[in-house]
Amino acid sequence: MRKKVIAGNWKMNKLAADAKQFVADAAGKLPKSENVEAIVCAPFLYLPELVKQTEGTDLKIAAQNMHYEENGAFTGEISPSMLKDSGVTHVVIGHSERRQYFAETDETVNKKVHAAFAHELTPIVCVGETLEQREANETNSHVEKQVRAAIAGLAEDQVAETIIAYEPIWAIGTGKTATSEQANEVCTHIRQVVAKNVSEKAAEQLVIQYGGSVKPANVDELLAQSDIDGALVGGASLEVDSFLQLVEAGT
Ligand code: PGA
Repeated sequence: MRKKVIAGNWKMNKLAADAKQFVADAAGKLPKSENVEAIVCAPFLYLPELVKQTEGTDLKIAAQNMHYEENGAFTGEISPSMLKDSGVTHVVIGHSERRQYFAETDETVNKKVHAAFAHELTPIVCVGETLEQREANETNSHVEKQVRAAIAGLAEDQVAETIIAYEPIWAIGTGKTATSEQANEVCTHIRQVVAKNVSEKAAEQLVIQYGGSVKPANVDELLAQSDIDGALVGGASLEVDSFLQLVEAGT
């Protein structure tokens, strides 16, 4: 039985005081449940403070990105060991905004996934098609290519521990959610790709989230689908109440 994983992706939002207030409020009110894991993906600057605040609670803190190199002349970057040192447990890798605006590729995503495991960080790997690709019937082939590239070279147990977030780009921040059937169809395809290329066991354990305009009003239907094990949520994760409702839906 896979856990449901609800991750709030704040993106480039909130100042320090608001971030701290959110985490203080959310950590104290999380539902007590073994079935759901709640994660906040916060900007780098706040990570050590938020990790400290969540000690002894069930709320986990994640980074939204990292570089794959260990150290050196990479001005402005944050390394996997810095993240590990900060106490975060998860890291988002290859979000479509990073692929689109910061030139991330399937190759850099794969390097980051390996770097995450080398530092005992759980990667949340984002994949998803554009509207043009969906209309050209290329959704499954595109997502398959992204998934296979992301997990290339991983051991079976690492694949099993990876979280994949299927986020159709046309549904991110647009208010247009994929229907739960559309979302599930692609998540099922992802699980089949892993079963075929890695193993049935890894595919069975793999957590697959859906992301793209998830909100309290549509989360139940999405989480009820056979292959959707959680949500990566942007806009609706910025308010404590709605974040908590999303987590509650996973219990
Ligand atoms: P959204 O963002 O929920 O605002 O659509 C999701 C994401 O980009 O992770």
